[in-house]
Amino acid sequence: MENIEKLQEIIDNSNNIVFFGGAGVSTESGIPDFRSVDGLYNLKYKYPPEQIISHTFFQYKPEEFYRFYKDKMMCLDAKPNKAHTFLAKLEEKGKLSAVVTQNIDGLHQAGGSHTVYELHGSIHRNYCTKCHAFYDAEFVKNSKDLIPKCTKCGGIIKPDVVLYEEGLDDETVTNAINAISNCDTLIIAGTSLVVYPAASFIRYFKGNHLVLINLSETSADKMAGLVIHGKVGEVLSQIKI
Ligand code: NAD
Repeated sequence: MENIEKLQEIIDNSNNIVFFGGAGVSTESGIPDFRSVDGLYNLKYKYPPEQIISHTFFQYKPEEFYRFYKDKMMCLDAKPNKAHTFLAKLEEKGKLSAVVTQNIDGLHQAGGSHTVYELHGSIHRNYCTKCHAFYDAEFVKNSKDLIPKCTKCGGIIKPDVVLYEEGLDDETVTNAINAISNCDTLIIAGTSLVVYPAASFIRYFKGNHLVLINLSETSADKMAGLVIHGKVGEVLSQIKI
């Protein structure tokens, strides 16, 4: 309770908040994260997840890639939860300048947020690797063959998602770093902070209040002025705006 009151005070007194989140922001929408006990890393697959969703696998074992990706990463029925809708409201009130997310599920936009920097891309954008024609997530998820193919040229369709071994989009990185560098409050939530370079961007923060909301401990707990170990949706929904 004391922590919620502190968070309320910080949010009341901030006018340029940035939210930096990860897979833990969407677990309350039913999408598994990677590193929780019931996360994807603890399920047993033939290959570890970081190997399956790598550039090499997409190129040389596209069936394995798409089997895992469609089944575990494309949760098209998931709905935004209390964290997503709270952040959209905070933006609408003019208090939040950006959401920087490592998630690829599009739930911040579905929840009503406008300025969202998706460091790892989105399952909702997909392009033919040959002719660059655009396809939505439903087309990819429901393609009759396991590997979705372009209806125009027959090329393999690739999600606009940053796979392991691939670089981040320059413009998205610049926007994310600018937002973090200029905010007065940074709320980090639902991320283990072990995926780089994304996790390193929080080092650009030089504002007044660093808040961390996560179920488990992270490497940034020591840096934060306020640490709340709890569920991000449950925590944020107690804040009045
Ligand atoms: P992670 O799985 O490494 O860590 C998730 C963290 O969130 C853990 O520390 C866990 O304790 C915490 N957590 C789980 N549920 C929570 C909740 N309700 N409230 C607060 N904390 C909660 O996730 P990561 O750091 O984002 O790194 C994984 C990578 O995998 C990311 O790059 C992301 O792109 C990708 N990924 C995305 C999705 C998605 O789009 N929803 C899902 C799985 C993985």
